[in-house]
Amino acid sequence: MAVDRWSWLGDHPAIDLANTVRRRGMQYVDLLATPDDLAEWLDHEADRLPRPETVGNDLFGPFLELRDATLELMRAAAAGRRLPARSRHKLNEFALRYPVVLTLAATAGTRTYRMLEADDDAAQLLAELTAVTIDLLSSPDLERPALCDAPGCGQLYRRGRPNQEWCNPHCGARARSERHYLRTQGRAQG
Ligand SMILES: [Zn+2]
Repeated sequence: MAVDRWSWLGDHPAIDLANTVRRRGMQYVDLLATPDDLAEWLDHEADRLPRPETVGNDLFGPFLELRDATLELMRAAAAGRRLPARSRHKLNEFALRYPVVLTLAATAGTRTYRMLEADDDAAQLLAELTAVTIDLLSSPDLERPALCDAPGCGQLYRRGRPNQEWCNPHCGARARSERHYLRTQGRAQG
């Protein structure tokens, strides 16, 4: 059950963060209802994000604030809209509260961040997520988030090529078969 619930994880961490709100039918469902849900999400991200030992309300509150701002900004970016001021200020507020420096890792093309003031794991987590979200939203066109509007999906993803319309081939196949169905229905009725 838990595996199914988080089976879509593994994109850019900022995309995974935004995708903790999922589309089911026409509704959006928040998968993070309690700190335990967050702990589960963090377990799945443990190989690339700091995992605080305890996940309580003191982390859950600011985490959701960051997630909500990230989600609104990504949806705006995916739709080609201006980034909404309130969420942009929220993210910048986090960046100033948890300042980091970008450092070099052993593998080229990998970014690592170190907090300026040594702090706890919870602060490090919020700092890293803020930094990677700002990275993603400020990067060139191709890497910016897109929204997959296929039936049963509605998730944010990063395009692998220009004009990519769906997050993966399965979504493309579902969307095409739905379009075909709607077209043939139209003909049958017209
Ligand atoms: Zn999709």
